[in-house]
Amino acid sequence: MDEPKASKALLDCKTVSRLISDGQDTRLPGPERARMRLHLVLCEACRNVNEQMGFLRRAMRQLGRETPEDEDAGPKR
Ligand SMILES: [Zn+2]
Repeated sequence: MDEPKASKALLDCKTVSRLISDGQDTRLPGPERARMRLHLVLCEACRNVNEQMGFLRRAMRQLGRETPEDEDAGPKR
């Protein structure tokens, strides 16, 4: 369980894809985000994940905007 500090310098694909799918990549502090960006530059697989998630998020946002406010439709307590 003694990870060398060097391993923290480079994020692995698991970490990166998890950050992306959790939507945490936008909330990362500067250095962390820079490391993630660097990984994306070097790693095509994660770049694809990032693109797909970006597309999904945009689509979801649009859907959310177009959906009428049906929260009021349910019975109120
Ligand atoms: Zn990767």
